[in-house]
Amino acid sequence: MTTSTSPAQLLDEWLGRIANHCRQYDSPQQFAVKNPATGKELIKVPSLSADDANRAVESALAAGKDWRRQTAQQRAVVLHKWARLIEEHHEALAVLLTSEQGKPIAEARGEITYGNSFITWFAEEGKRAYGDIIPTNANSRRLIVTKEPVGLVAAITPWNFPNAMITRKVAPALAAGCSILVKPAEDTPLSALALEILAHEAGVPPALFRVLPASDPAEIGSVFTKHTAIRKLSFTGSTPVGKFLMRECADTVKKVSMELGGNAPFIVFEDADLDAAVDGAVLAKFRNAGQTCVCANRILVQRSIQDQFIEKFKEKVSKLSIGDGVKDGVSIGPLINMQAVEKIDELLTQSLERGARAVIGGARSNEASGQFFEPTILCDVTPDMPIARSEIFGPVAPVMPFEEEEEAIEKANDTPFGLAAYFWTQDLGRTWRVSEALEYGMIGVNEGSISSEATPFGGVKESGVGREGSKYGLDEFLEIKYTSMGGLGM
Ligand code: ADP
Repeated sequence: MTTSTSPAQLLDEWLGRIANHCRQYDSPQQFAVKNPATGKELIKVPSLSADDANRAVESALAAGKDWRRQTAQQRAVVLHKWARLIEEHHEALAVLLTSEQGKPIAEARGEITYGNSFITWFAEEGKRAYGDIIPTNANSRRLIVTKEPVGLVAAITPWNFPNAMITRKVAPALAAGCSILVKPAEDTPLSALALEILAHEAGVPPALFRVLPASDPAEIGSVFTKHTAIRKLSFTGSTPVGKFLMRECADTVKKVSMELGGNAPFIVFEDADLDAAVDGAVLAKFRNAGQTCVCANRILVQRSIQDQFIEKFKEKVSKLSIGDGVKDGVSIGPLINMQAVEKIDELLTQSLERGARAVIGGARSNEASGQFFEPTILCDVTPDMPIARSEIFGPVAPVMPFEEEEEAIEKANDTPFGLAAYFWTQDLGRTWRVSEALEYGMIGVNEGSISSEATPFGGVKESGVGREGSKYGLDEFLEIKYTSMGGLGM
């Protein structure tokens, strides 16, 4: 592919490849995938049924038997090849991602790189699934701990990171020696299918990793939760759906990993580097138009610096430009669908009615599909307003004052969620105190973006169970086996 190939040509090429790939499914049902920026249909993909999912389970079980016998080195060769192919098609995958999801192309490029980092990381991490020899309690016996693949994994992924949420689950599963079936979000199945095409091209046996697009998530979901051969469910999505799936998994006692909702506090203390904190707030709030589970949801600012903070924040936010993400320079793309726009509108209206004030923004934007929302800063927000209690998932930044450190911590922890929290200070003692007091799985101190392949992503409380990425992320796909080897006659 030459660098002069236009985004439209890259998109056409990949829509063609996906259509071709989907011919294998003889599905009577199809559903349309739309571009959220234009509202136009990109392609129709098959909507798979419970029967399709059951067939995929049988084939994945058979393929998994061979795969688990491969060495970690052999599996790494295939994973590295997959990563190289993704790198070769980097720009096309970014264009495809922006077309179905809406995020600005620069962010989509970043997601492809971030997504791929999980594949290269876990290709190597799979070689380090070490066990233990425990000091024996009798001379005639040895006590051995090994780690084994959990078996067949089912994954359900969201639309906000249509590439990286797949690689973050599939790479460790394959590296650990598991087979995996993925149901992508109905708004964004294309990036998932593109990853599947490239994985198969790289030598991942087709039945070992399958993407199952479906317009009815519950139909595939019930196979994933009820099938006795599926040993693990890895889910990223909303807390209510996660709770439902956990309950459904109880009957077959599946292992579960749950990456659920957040309500991230972003605390700015009066001793913070204010300019850096403002840049961090823009990054933590407006990335992906506010549609990430680690987005700053409540901006808590010490009252002595609140006016100064809001002035600087407003100036930066005024420079964010709304538009179709494929255009260079756009920083705020569309929201994923009309329901998302309506939800933001409702949260905003409720807040304004109860006395909050929009410092900037505060309305829908009249771009093509009507799914755009102006980047908004709300002040005079109180903790009891619905906007402060629910996950916003849109480009609205509620700012709330606090007086003292203890009050900030109390407000920050006053939520059933516990995914990510951010705070800004230059005081070393405060750094440790606040970091230890926050009930969150991930903390950014003087940082607005904290996720990487090498670090554990995940939450506490109702934000989830388990971790993704890092050495801990591999454990999610491994079982511990203890062997007592006796009769050694020593
Ligand atoms: P969001 O509100 O961000 O779309 P969801 O939790 O509804 O989050 O969606 C995340 C993923 O969960 C998507 O792939 C979606 O299709 C899937 N999903 C939603 N409801 C169910 C269900 N009842 N069973 C299985 N999967 C579901």
